[in-house]
Amino acid sequence: MKQTAKPELFRELPSVDELLRSDGVSALVVTHGMPAVTDGARAVLARLREEISSGLLDEAALRLALGGVAEAIEQQVQRALRPSLRPMINATGVILHTNLGRAPLSTAALDHVREVSGTYSNLEFEIESGERGKRDMHVQRLLSKLLGESGNGQSISTIVVNNNAAAVLLALNTLADAGEVVVSRGELVEIGGSFRIPDVMAKSGAILREVGTTNRTRAADYEKAINDRTRLLLRVHRSNFEITGFTEQASTAELVALARKRSIPVMEDLGSGALVDLQSFGITGEPSVLDSLRAGVDIVTYSGDKLLGGPQAGLISGRADLVARMRGNSLFRALRVDKLTYAALEATLLAYVRRDHGAIPALKMMRSTKDEIGRRAEAVAKGIRQSGSTIKAEVIDGESVIGGGAAPSSTLPTRLLAITCADLSADELATRLRASDPPIIARVEDGRVLLDLRTVFPEQDRAIASALAGVAQ
Ligand SMILES: *Cc1c(COP(=O)(O)O)cnc(C)c1O
Repeated sequence: MKQTAKPELFRELPSVDELLRSDGVSALVVTHGMPAVTDGARAVLARLREEISSGLLDEAALRLALGGVAEAIEQQVQRALRPSLRPMINATGVILHTNLGRAPLSTAALDHVREVSGTYSNLEFEIESGERGKRDMHVQRLLSKLLGESGNGQSISTIVVNNNAAAVLLALNTLADAGEVVVSRGELVEIGGSFRIPDVMAKSGAILREVGTTNRTRAADYEKAINDRTRLLLRVHRSNFEITGFTEQASTAELVALARKRSIPVMEDLGSGALVDLQSFGITGEPSVLDSLRAGVDIVTYSGDKLLGGPQAGLISGRADLVARMRGNSLFRALRVDKLTYAALEATLLAYVRRDHGAIPALKMMRSTKDEIGRRAEAVAKGIRQSGSTIKAEVIDGESVIGGGAAPSSTLPTRLLAITCADLSADELATRLRASDPPIIARVEDGRVLLDLRTVFPEQDRAIASALAGVAQ
């Protein structure tokens, strides 16, 4: 490799026009169109100029590069025309991984999106009367079946907005604009990705009234803070952290009793919003939407793409009169969701109505047993050994987590594929796995690459096995 630049080589470079007229490149124009190929040719020429400047190319190397210039342009064009959003294999064992798109959608949800989004639909249209309808009716119908009536016998209404952050914003703005909202200091949370309760509160126009201390807040603390400007008592789920030790938290029942006595609504930002009883999954301390409503909470807000297992959305369920006020708020129009979301959400909710929880990928992953996951991991490990690869694969005990701010202290027992290689560091192995197609995302711990097949779809096991078999070459 020569390190001195040879400026005379710049004269050897063809112009973009010359390139486009050459045989190999003009054939690309026929397939990919002039604009894309022109951009590709410019990018490849710029790269060559840079390599000449930095002395990386001598005359022979440049000639070689120019011989393959059509292929280089084709690769460049293909990269540029490929979507940037790509499928990946999540082998982290974090079921609701925000950076990896949270809950994968069910087949039924995808089918329904395809069915109603490629054509016109009755999104806001009443077929029988031929009149204008409301878009939220499609999921409202199913959620009233799933949630039934609240603790005090009122019917439960639900509206859907862009995400749970939007749900909290809309609810606070509707119920407490210019008024005070009482929140425990132990619940002024930040959820990853810049959702902070005090900031959302400020944007909503509501005034935050902090009570108690970080570790202890009693019902009496809330009561003392109530005055004639108080509009709402707010409880926020402690997603992604736990306070342990010398702690005390007013129970939901106490808050509800206080709220009733003072005729102020109680709202709970549940975050995850499970529609099933999580105890059957071995997860405790995570109230479901129904638990909160039954306990008498007036309004609950929750995400569509966390434990519910559907598309990104924010759901607001609760007292019909309060939800009706939110529907009438002009912010609701700004935060509303489109037909893709309604279609995916409706199909996901139908699985709950049918009690077919296994159809929802996130719930199915939670249900997978350590033995099932272990058997799949053993099969992958065996494949690697038989491939003659130099990497070493073991199957060891480990833990998967729910993620997405649900049950921060609960883990699910699992079996992990632990990969090491004498010639490559664990970080290098993980980098190479990310470079496979589709990219595979794993954990690195104690000098090993750990893959948890709980979050891998069984039909992806084969792709993992072949990526691992080839990774050390
Ligand atoms: C996740 C979470 C949010 C934010 O929900 P998004 O759907 O991501 O907007 C808000 N509050 C709590 C308690 C959460 O766990």
